[in-house]
Amino acid sequence: MIPDPDAGPVNRHTVRRVIGSFRPYRRKILVVGLAIVVTAAMGVINPLLIKVIFDTALFCGAGCPDLSRLYRLVAIMVAIPIVSGAIGIGQTYLANQVGQRVMQDLRNALYEHLQRMSLRFFTSTRTGEIQSRLSNDVGGVQSVLTDTASSILSNIVILISTLVAMLIISWQLTVLSLVLLPLFLWLTVKVGKARQVVASSTQKSLAEITAITEETLSVSGILLSKAFGRQRFEIDRFGRENQRLADLQVRQQMIGRSFFAVVQIFFSITPALVYLVAGFVNDSASSPDISAGAIVAFTTLQSRLFFPIGQMLQISVEVQSSMALFERIHEYLDMPHDIVDAPDAQELRPESVRGHVRFRNVFFRYDAPPEDLDLTDDHPAGTVGPVPPLTAVAGDGRPRDWTLANVDLEIEPGQLAALVGPSGAGKTTMTYLVPRMYDVNDGAVEIDGTDVRKVALESLADSIGMVTQETYLFHTTVRQNLQYGRPGASQEEMEAAARAAFIHDRIVELSDGYDTVVGERGYRLSGGEKQRLAIARVILKDPRILILDEATSSLDTTSERLVQEALRPLMRGRTTLAIAHRLSTILAADVIFVLDRGRVVERGTHAELLERDGLYARLYQQQFRGGMVEAECEDGVVLATGEVLRAPA
Ligand code: ATP
Repeated sequence: MIPDPDAGPVNRHTVRRVIGSFRPYRRKILVVGLAIVVTAAMGVINPLLIKVIFDTALFCGAGCPDLSRLYRLVAIMVAIPIVSGAIGIGQTYLANQVGQRVMQDLRNALYEHLQRMSLRFFTSTRTGEIQSRLSNDVGGVQSVLTDTASSILSNIVILISTLVAMLIISWQLTVLSLVLLPLFLWLTVKVGKARQVVASSTQKSLAEITAITEETLSVSGILLSKAFGRQRFEIDRFGRENQRLADLQVRQQMIGRSFFAVVQIFFSITPALVYLVAGFVNDSASSPDISAGAIVAFTTLQSRLFFPIGQMLQISVEVQSSMALFERIHEYLDMPHDIVDAPDAQELRPESVRGHVRFRNVFFRYDAPPEDLDLTDDHPAGTVGPVPPLTAVAGDGRPRDWTLANVDLEIEPGQLAALVGPSGAGKTTMTYLVPRMYDVNDGAVEIDGTDVRKVALESLADSIGMVTQETYLFHTTVRQNLQYGRPGASQEEMEAAARAAFIHDRIVELSDGYDTVVGERGYRLSGGEKQRLAIARVILKDPRILILDEATSSLDTTSERLVQEALRPLMRGRTTLAIAHRLSTILAADVIFVLDRGRVVERGTHAELLERDGLYARLYQQQFRGGMVEAECEDGVVLATGEVLRAPA
């Protein structure tokens, strides 16, 4: 655990919460506590025995050495560390088990909480930041969870028992030790502070190295550095940071060494002072007040006094900085989930979903979650005004534009609806509202007449399939990627889906067929293959409603044709909401909605919209007539490639 010098005072609420996380393991903690008290107390028995051996068995005048007494005392001296060591092992095991369980609970709670966060959170937070809280921050509190509590307890018991034992032996020598204590404390605090500063710089340097590695050794990063010939630059950048880290590590080691030097110096000097004071005391008394046994026992006890104090100082620094980490973890755990099941949420049974999709006067904006917005009076909820109000007052009181304003449309079960419009018009945003990636600010999105906010989230996800522009595959086998669509799908079902998506033949050509690992994000597959695999995954899922964001990146003609062929069985018999970039989709659409700056400005079929000669006609001229479309024929269009795309009858 690396201390943070900027860590503020320990927050009581955080401490209570951390202690609360140990509650399920109360019994084990009690056993650990007992073991600590017993072993720490056993630690003073041997120094006390030294005095007894010296004074009653070795140097006791006429009857000494008293061998039979010596044997007994030596046997006890040997047995005590063995018993105490055995208890110590059991105690460490239990303490670590409890600490690791608490860590496990914390990590699980955090991961589960993050899984339930809405897309809004992920689009506004850096992935690295999220990963860091889950791994570095939780990892950073490990030592506090596993060691600190037991260290504090054992050090307290050691301190008290040592002081009592010292007082039993000689109050004069105890006073001497306590006089030396402030000097020891001062030196330890100084060294501790220096350590903290270096440790914090080391943490920053480590984070920088991690960031550089993450950025430059990912597939996209290495592609970029190779394409721009920046490898030398990256190597130098890494080298410089690495050098800094190495220097800091050396400094950290040296400061650690000086801490031990301080402790060692004290250990060496204090016995000399004890002898000196014992000499003075005995000299001033008529008979020797402090025996030889007492002096040896006392010097042994002194080493037990300084060490726990040094450790407690170190622990207090660690606790303080780990509280800052706990606060970061709690901050995430306390973030509310903005998209959750309504208390009266209904299950949507995927097999009985008809697939009627309705946007009812939908208003939406990204910058303010629904609860933050105060809709102005000029827009009573649910109004279908001829001129939709385009502003609302957000939390900060400033009016802002809507991303989607008064979107009102209906898609009949089984229909293919195409969304068309200029970049940034709000097409993707519309598709996000159906599976509740975001909630509308006003109006409603309905499936079969039920507001999606009243549908249980899991059943909503089961009824909707999404094929996004950028195909995301996991770094695992083709089989597991496909089964993500339907866990437990049989080989036959998978093959049928892969065949329908025109990807089966390619899969069996791969080195291990369905067991081939596709590589991070599917980089070992071509763009078209990835898309077809993603389509097969959704075919396997078999949702009633399909959301399709057609990729804009142009594939070569063969790939493009295969993807189009793959999409055909996917769209069949489902309600499809497609962000259409392909002419074939547009021509096949039952209805086209044209969006412009968040509003539906035109709707109709391809022919109707062309005739209208508005935005759609302009977009069509720019996108398709300009390049791909060679000519229009009686029943469709001829592409530049010579292929004829037929309009539906
Ligand atoms: P394209 O065809 O280029 O993908 P689109 O029609 O799908 O565009 P959207 O992605 O829906 O457009 O975006 C609509 C508007 O919302 C844009 O102005 C965009 O900048 C904005 N926007 C999109 N995502 C977010 C977000 N997470 N946070 C804030 N604004 C966003």
